[in-house]
Amino acid sequence: MNHALDAVFKPSSIAVVGASRQQGTIGWEIVHNLLAYGFQGAVFPVNPRAKWVHSLRCYSSIREIPDPVDLAVITVPKELVLDVVEDCGQKGVKGLIVITAGFKETGKEGLAREQKVVEIVERYGMRMVGPNCMGAINTDPAVRMNATFARVQPLSGKVGFMSQSGALGEVILDYAKELGLGISTFVSVGNKANISGNDLLEYWEEDQKTEIILLYLENFGNPRKFTGIARRISRKMPIIVVKAGRTTPGARAASSHTGSLAGLDVAADALLSQCGVMRVTSIDELFDLAKALSLQPPPSGNRVVILTNAGGPAILTTDACVNLGLTMAELSGETKASLRTFLAPEASVENPVDMIASAGPQEYQKAVEVLLDDPSVDALIAIFVPPIITDPRAVAYEVAEASKKYEKTVLGCFMGTKETLGGLQQTGYPIPLYPFPEASAKALSAMVRYGRWLKRPQGTIPTYSVDREKAQAILMKAVERGGGALEPEEAMEVMAAYGIAVASWKVVFSEKELQDCVGEMGFPVVLKVRSRKILHKSDLGLVIPNIADLDALKEAFASLSQKGRSAGWNLPEEGLFVQEFVKEGTETIVGMATDPGFGPLLMVGLGGIFVEILKDVSFRVHPVTDLDAREMLEELKAGPILKGARGETPVDLEYLAECILRVSQLVSDFHEIGSLDINPLKCSTKEKTRAVDVRILVGKEN
Ligand code: ADP
Ligand code: MG
Repeated sequence: MNHALDAVFKPSSIAVVGASRQQGTIGWEIVHNLLAYGFQGAVFPVNPRAKWVHSLRCYSSIREIPDPVDLAVITVPKELVLDVVEDCGQKGVKGLIVITAGFKETGKEGLAREQKVVEIVERYGMRMVGPNCMGAINTDPAVRMNATFARVQPLSGKVGFMSQSGALGEVILDYAKELGLGISTFVSVGNKANISGNDLLEYWEEDQKTEIILLYLENFGNPRKFTGIARRISRKMPIIVVKAGRTTPGARAASSHTGSLAGLDVAADALLSQCGVMRVTSIDELFDLAKALSLQPPPSGNRVVILTNAGGPAILTTDACVNLGLTMAELSGETKASLRTFLAPEASVENPVDMIASAGPQEYQKAVEVLLDDPSVDALIAIFVPPIITDPRAVAYEVAEASKKYEKTVLGCFMGTKETLGGLQQTGYPIPLYPFPEASAKALSAMVRYGRWLKRPQGTIPTYSVDREKAQAILMKAVERGGGALEPEEAMEVMAAYGIAVASWKVVFSEKELQDCVGEMGFPVVLKVRSRKILHKSDLGLVIPNIADLDALKEAFASLSQKGRSAGWNLPEEGLFVQEFVKEGTETIVGMATDPGFGPLLMVGLGGIFVEILKDVSFRVHPVTDLDAREMLEELKAGPILKGARGETPVDLEYLAECILRVSQLVSDFHEIGSLDINPLKCSTKEKTRAVDVRILVGKEN
């Protein structure tokens, strides 16, 4: 065994603790499935009240089994699980599948029980699937393990499938079988108390039999880890996720600009696609896509040609393709001429190529070859509406055979009864067949996106030389005092430690100190209240910019004192924040907010006090690469403003990208940071760019 999870997925011997003689119980079904599916190793039923189960000798305890046991499948009542797990540890069992429910999912008491189980599992170095799950299947002919109580015996294939819901897992297995989609490993992960979704992804990454990953998820577990792992693995194999419900960022308390903008604008699918993960919203779509990716290569571009024997469905398919961002391929004169040589005179040789109802298998075969020969075609959708005289099987066969000679993507839209289609698909044609135009277009567009992802250079995550110790000292001090917002000057120092220049500043606690310090700094200055509580200072008139002389300073001080007092600010305790006035530069925002589903998100946009109104921002999942940072800037509508509209100094975009990357590095270094806003970062040239307002929150929001 090479991998720690092999004990669970490739055992040589399995004990079923809680095996039962009574048909219909879980303890009976599991033993039955192991035998019926033809497990290649030994099966030992364990039940103190039975002598034989399924004609196998039954043991009263796992410790009584004379042979070694790799995996124990546990179905005993929840009160007995702890003792059984302990016995397994003593017996030297390496893998566990705990089917039994009644743990974390039931509340406090269950959670405590689950923690005890995990403690024993870890003490003995075992690995555990569950608890509260439906089991696991490995279809590898060398293993053939169906350690579930599902009624389905799945087909063997290349799909690794993880389900967070046991019941839905069974339905999906059933459906997969009907569609002829083969599974390599199926895991119902249950409460994920020991083996997590991330562990499984890493297992499949190494597994020779798995080429596609399907996930049915309710949550991402450790999102920081998920996004990192997914980004790596999706370059090797497609990952398709059905995630019930978007993240609910709207419900999250946002005490930063970035947080409130993330709550409004960031779609979970956009973030997933950044990690190369394809998100679908229905089980239908999951299979449409899985079928396509398991049978066909992703296209190298988005130019599609549609081949049909009927006009109506071709129009629907064209509309669907165009709406999904695909391009209708421009066929070459040569292609059209060659189609003309064998198609009926009424046929249309423009894209969509309509061969009319008289077209039979031979026409399909020739047309597919001619079209795939055209260099302006990346993908082909063959539509077939069965006229009585033509056999859909023969057409599907010819399309599939013709497509084999090319590296291009071919999908079929074979309309008609589900029976015909299901029958066709199960016989293992190498092209995916769909009953409706929209489904084929959707699958193709997802494949195009995946193809783009594969080609996209990965970019690098640079490491800048920074003063990590300094930032650490400040942040740890904040952790010690229980988290919350940093003082403005602390936040400024953290920024400066990570190489983002800040406007020079002083903190003062009286009017006298203020005048002395401005004497040193020189005019013009900006006066602000120093406060950890007030999020939008200028909304309350608590920021006074561009103070040019002593008179203006006195006036500003009076005004600020008065407004500050009514906002609950206290001069001798909280003080004033005096800053050099940074005249030049476009106001941008660079920030980070933690999404409960995805972990930290980085944001850049047009900044200043109107950021929430303009909402011209772009997001990426942390950590970002140099390429991501540049793309984030390209996505902004404010592009022309940044490039220096109306005589402003153009923003050094390379440097702004560097600032995003420096923030990304800071976020990588300190998981304690819950959110961060630099708003505004006054951007012009690299030398003159300054952060003038920085807010850093330590710990979770609120
Ligand atoms: P808040 O975001 O809490 O309202 P800021 O410190 O960001 O407070 O100040 C609000 C606005 O005042 C900024 O968006 C910027 O336009 C201006 N401003 C603040 N500090 C400076 C500064 N040092 N130099 C130039 N302009 C500043
Ligand atoms: Mg601000």
